[in-house]
This record gives sequence, C-alpha cells and structure tokens, in this order.
Amino acid sequence: MIGCAQSAVTRRSEEMKRQHRRFRAAGLHAATAGLKGDVRFDVPLSEYTSFRIGGPADALVEPADLEDLVRLVKQSHEQNVPVFVLGGTNLLVGDKGIRGVVVSLSRFRAIKEEPGSVLYAEAGVGMPTLIGHAIRRSLKGLEWAAGIPGTVGGCVVMNAGTKLGEMKDVVKAVRIVTPTGAVKECQGREIAFGYRRAKLPTGVVAGVWLQLAPGARSELEKTVKDYLRYRRETQPLTLPSAGCVFKNPPNDSAGRVVEASGLKGIRVGDAEVSTKHANFIVNRGNASAKDVLALIRKVQGEVRRKTGVKLELELKLVGQV
Ligand SMILES: Cc1cc2nc3c(=O)[nH]c(=O)nc-3n(C[C@H](O)[C@H](O)[C@H](O)COP(=O)(O)OP(=O)(O)OC[C@H]3O[C@@H](n4cnc5c(N)ncnc54)[C@H](O)[C@@H]3O)c2cc1C
Repeated sequence: MIGCAQSAVTRRSEEMKRQHRRFRAAGLHAATAGLKGDVRFDVPLSEYTSFRIGGPADALVEPADLEDLVRLVKQSHEQNVPVFVLGGTNLLVGDKGIRGVVVSLSRFRAIKEEPGSVLYAEAGVGMPTLIGHAIRRSLKGLEWAAGIPGTVGGCVVMNAGTKLGEMKDVVKAVRIVTPTGAVKECQGREIAFGYRRAKLPTGVVAGVWLQLAPGARSELEKTVKDYLRYRRETQPLTLPSAGCVFKNPPNDSAGRVVEASGLKGIRVGDAEVSTKHANFIVNRGNASAKDVLALIRKVQGEVRRKTGVKLELELKLVGQV
C-alpha cells in the first residue's frame, strides 16, 4: 500500500514537472515569436563566454535591430520570462545554464560619428573595435581600455576601467530599452557610476554616445601598443578566463593579497589561480563553474585567514551552478 502511495506521489510530481516544462516552453516561444533575428533553444553558453564555461541558455536570441530588441524585451516582460544580456567576458555562467532568454547583441555593431568628437556605438560593438575606430579618426579618450575584450554595453554596465581611466569618463549618454519596450536616452551625468558598477534604469543598453577629444593618431597608436604589450607581459591572455576575479580592496590590489597569501597556482579540477597574475583564474581545459566557485571560496577563505582582507567578487555569477 505504502509503495502504491509513493508511486502515485512520484507520478504526480513527474506530471507537474512535465507541465512546468510545457508552460516554460510556451512562454519562451511567445516571448521570441515574430523576431527577424536568430532564435535558438538549449544553446551551450560555454561557446559564448571567455571562460569557456557555462551550461545551456533556454533560448539564445540575437535580435536583428532595435525594433527586434524592443519586441523581444516587451514580449518577454509580458510572458514573465527573464531576460539576461550576455557579452560574455566578465561572467561565470553556472553549469546548469541560464533560464529564460539570453540576449546576444552580436548584430548591434554600428559606429556613427557625430559632431564635437562624439561617437555613437551600438551596444554590441567590441571595445577593441571601438578603440581602433577612434584611433583611425584621431579621437582620444579610450586608450585606457586597450585590451578590455567586452562589448561597449557591458563596459558601461560594469563601468569597466583600469588604473588609467574608466567608462564613466567618456559616457555622454546611453540608449536603453526598458522592460515595457520604451526606448529611453539617459544622460551620462544622471548615471551614478561606482567601482565596476553603474546605476542605470532597468533595461537593455542598446547604444552609447561617447565624448572623445581630438588627438594625434600616432601618439594614440603608440599609447595603445604600450598598454597591450604591458597586458601581454602581466596577464594570462593565452588561456580562457573572465578577467579579474576580485575587486581591489581599498588602497591595495587583489592580485597582491592573493599572491602574498601563497595562492598562485592552486587548483580545483581544471580551474587554476594564474601563475602569471594572481587575480585571474584560468580554465586549464575542462573546468566547470563548480570548480571555479570552489576555488574562489578557497581563495577568499585563505586570504581572510592570512591577511584579514575580505575579497569581493568583480566577475558576475549567473545562472544555476
Ligand atoms: C582577458 C580579460 C581582461 C579584462 N580586463 C579588464 C579590465 O582591465 N578592466 C575591466 O573593467 N574589465 C576587464 N575585463 C572584464 C570585462 O571585459 C569587462 O567587465 C566588460 O565590461 C564586460 O563586458 P561584456 O560585454 O563581456 O559583459 P558581460 O561580462 O557579459 O556582462 C557583465 C554584466 O553586464 C550586463 N550587460 C552586458 N551587456 C549589457 C547590455 N547591453 N545591456 C544591459 N546589461 C548588459 C550583463 O547582463 C552582466 O550583468 C577583462 C576580461 C578579460 C577576459
């Protein structure tokens, strides 16, 4: 009798799971209906992250243009389907992936020049491309970002930066698609930028106006070349990573405290604290998000125990581990 009752409960719970999956699939199809861009289901995100780690997205969508993006965001909102925008270079995506819609702005690649040394870049433009464009037009202001691999949209959201500058120094205005599908422009001075964060209205960044200044092309080229050489010498650029893992503690550097704690080279599975730069974790082959997370916790624990410093994450954890 007990066995019968148990199997009835199991059957009911299996049926509920199936119903939930059908409900989720219907929501996803309604959220992505009628788009001109690319829509794919169950796509492994390891192919879209610089870490080469990450389980599947329920749906990966590459909207064709602004109209498509508006439609996608609005329909997803109406269907209660979560939307996550992925550039992919500062993320640890969980092994079980991301539920809902993951948006790649790979088709948002236009750069336009406007009077007064202003460039408008669509959010999917890669920083290296944008820097190259600015230099060819003899525009200065972005050299500090040489070697940052993210998209312009991701760099605004993260207020990406180095010791030499930050995104906040050049953002004139941002175009945002809100969850209800409205397209808004937000002035740079209205955005509260902090250390690797920006307080923006909720929504998807579709484009950014950058205030640059006239410069001498040859000088800009030399500066960028020097920064790139410095990066190659000091960072593990030949292995998959997500850039700096931890934020720098006040008046110190995260890399220095991790190294001083004797943690360079320690591993969990294929995840390793880089031997070249201690604030990078590199994927030595088949590291999982679980491995990286365990290594992060180990580093945080050891650093706290040995130096008293509490390291905060700079990279973002997303999805289910
Ligand atoms: C080798 C290497 C070196 C790096 N060096 C630096 C460095 O010197 N300085 C630095 O700051 N960073 C550095 N990074 C990290 C990374 O490139 C930056 O943080 C960058 O800003 C992330 O951009 P992304 O487009 O990849 O965004 P992601 O990492 O994919 O996303 C970051 C966050 O922004 C959100 N987001 C992305 N695009 C949009 C959008 N269009 N609209 C709304 N939300 C969006 C995402 O949802 C997520 O919450 C480095 C990374 C690597 C791999």
